[in-house]
Amino acid sequence: MIGGMLSQQPDFLHLIELVHRHGKPVCVGGPDVSSSPHLYAAADFQVIGEAEHVMKDFVAAWQRGDRFGVFTAEKFKIDVTQSPLPRYDLLKLEHYLYIGVQYSRGCPFTCEFCDIIELYGRVPRTKTNAQILGELQALYDLGYRGHVDFVDDNFIGNKKNLRTLMPELKAWLKEHDCPFEFSTEASINLADDDEMLQAMKDANFFLVFVGIESPDPETLVQMRKKQNTKRNIAECVHKIYSYGMFVTAGFIVGFDSEKVSVAASMTDFIEECAIPVCMVGLLYALPGTQLTRRLAKEGRLHRGHDVMRAERAGDQCTLGCNFDTKRPLRDILVDYKSILERIFEPAAYAGRLSRLATMLGRSGRRRELPEGDVRRKVSGIETVHRIINALPEAREPFWQTFVEVAQSNPAALRYIVILMALYLHLGPFSRHVIGEIDRRIAELDGAAPVPLAARARDAAVVAM
Ligand code: SF4
Repeated sequence: MIGGMLSQQPDFLHLIELVHRHGKPVCVGGPDVSSSPHLYAAADFQVIGEAEHVMKDFVAAWQRGDRFGVFTAEKFKIDVTQSPLPRYDLLKLEHYLYIGVQYSRGCPFTCEFCDIIELYGRVPRTKTNAQILGELQALYDLGYRGHVDFVDDNFIGNKKNLRTLMPELKAWLKEHDCPFEFSTEASINLADDDEMLQAMKDANFFLVFVGIESPDPETLVQMRKKQNTKRNIAECVHKIYSYGMFVTAGFIVGFDSEKVSVAASMTDFIEECAIPVCMVGLLYALPGTQLTRRLAKEGRLHRGHDVMRAERAGDQCTLGCNFDTKRPLRDILVDYKSILERIFEPAAYAGRLSRLATMLGRSGRRRELPEGDVRRKVSGIETVHRIINALPEAREPFWQTFVEVAQSNPAALRYIVILMALYLHLGPFSRHVIGEIDRRIAELDGAAPVPLAARARDAAVVAM
């Protein structure tokens, strides 16, 4: 049984082949199968949509001897209060940096490029409080301590129910001597709700991912991300910082309404927000979205837009803009490359860490991580030494930031060091993406593509 997302498609298809070579049947499901079932016709069984209600049909079919079948869940109808307790006991917990739990599915917003609302709907469904606390209890009983991520599409999508959970979550943490620290994903309107921010602070949340996408109000309107308009986004981010939670954010380049100046405005905006970890990607028309339907209608969608080719496996960073863009694609790629070069330059990254530390309100929070939390190994001066030994180009700015934060906001230091450690991946990865974008630009210019040997070298750097 295999599940996966679009960026995993080549591996996914390879696994189906491998399983068949061993003479075994295979059942597939998950987001990419649900969006593009035609690409998975080789699988013996397909589960399309949310699996809970149709799994019993699959098991019954298997038991009566069926060896082929497609099981399609009715859209947005799965009652997640009936979802079983995940088998956390099957995980090798020591292999995980953090564990995911899910409280809700779906999001009330209408962003044009988003496939969440197509797959899980716009009416967020939540588990019961007892159910989610039961999941945390199961992790606790297995001895897990540390970072737990609420993998919800939008944690505050159903605030009415969430407001009843938060006090119970706070009480549970207190009873168990605060064994977990939480992160999640939420829309920027979280910043409008002081009560919820305080409740998240009380429940030991330390990180929120926010989809910011663009600094340009016209572009936000065009992508139908209206919750991000008519507000000062930087101030919203800083407000979340004041509650002791840092923000990581998604940004997208390649929208129809973008101006030529997108590189400068996006970079300045990221600096103003002081968000260290920014996932900047190229717009990708995901299967089944409003964006894809519009582009198809306009005759701009590329053939095979839903196919991730094995020889060019990648993601929205390297393979985005799978449609005819309004601005010349070359200009978009040059802008994109320039943003990555500037924001992941070591001094710029360290500068954002320093500014974040001045705003991160960690007072009143417990400083020590619980016994058994793997992150205890990643917070001291030895970690900084290891990071700057591995990346000598980051030595000066990282060291300066470490000393500054140790003096000005020691309660924030652990998070700053963790974010420095993340740069061990982000620095080389950004260089890898820049190399791939250079290759795409060279192809557009008709120049000889960068030789494979050089690409292999880039990949080795990424794997470091
Ligand atoms: S806020 Fe996020 S999850 Fe909700 S529709 Fe927009 S992109 Fe999708």
